[in-house]
Amino acid sequence: APSSRRPWVGGNWKAAATKATIGPVVEALNKSGEGFAAEVVIFPSAMHLESTKEALKVDAKIGVQNIHSAEKLGAFTGELVVPQVQDMGLEWVMVGHSERRHLFGEADAVVAEKARVALAAGLKVVVCVGEKLDEREAGQCRAVVVRQLDAVAAVVPAESWAASIVVAYEPVWAIGTGKVASAEQAQEAHKDIREWLEAKIGAAASAACRIVYGGSVKPGNCTGLGAQPDIDGFLVGGAALKPEFVDIIRGAQ
Ligand code: PGA
Repeated sequence: APSSRRPWVGGNWKAAATKATIGPVVEALNKSGEGFAAEVVIFPSAMHLESTKEALKVDAKIGVQNIHSAEKLGAFTGELVVPQVQDMGLEWVMVGHSERRHLFGEADAVVAEKARVALAAGLKVVVCVGEKLDEREAGQCRAVVVRQLDAVAAVVPAESWAASIVVAYEPVWAIGTGKVASAEQAQEAHKDIREWLEAKIGAAASAACRIVYGGSVKPGNCTGLGAQPDIDGFLVGGAALKPEFVDIIRGAQ
């Protein structure tokens, strides 16, 4: 990706991490002993937000994997709200991960409202989008992603896209499956998203917004993906719970 956009790499630990798996990853990150070229954001479960924040000694941010859309503290058992994210001194929120959309039934409008509330509070948001396998096979890849993004654009300020939003393109069929999208497939979808940004939001937002790829990213496949002109980094699941996550961060160019 062009050097005008700082690469961005997220580590999504899902509900897959325990103290035993987190320890070696944090150790590897701390041992790397350097500032990374990429902006790095780790998304631990709520259980591990505070301990991870305290243990990390490198220039990496911490974000939450999901939030509830309520704007204030309140009686929402089992949820996290934006004022709590701010209280913890965290900057990033993930919305619309495919597991939220497809396992927990979050509609486009729900995802969009979460993004709106987080951005309104001054947080940064990674908006995840992506098509399912049947949608790709039906030639609906672009239409699905545009529908998901249109819902967000309908409720968030236009200026958020350049400064405060990262778009994560994650084809559902590539998440956790070992079936990474080819560099060409990923670049095509990222280009669609960049063109959508230009048409819908404007040229400056399109040039500035980081669009990252997710879905079975590993040290062995990230270089080819990262070399594509519209791929500005990665959202990493399984491989973010291994010490070689550091190699993916270094590979983001
Ligand atoms: P994966 O997950 O890297 O394990 O495919 C990516 C994600 O869900 O963000």
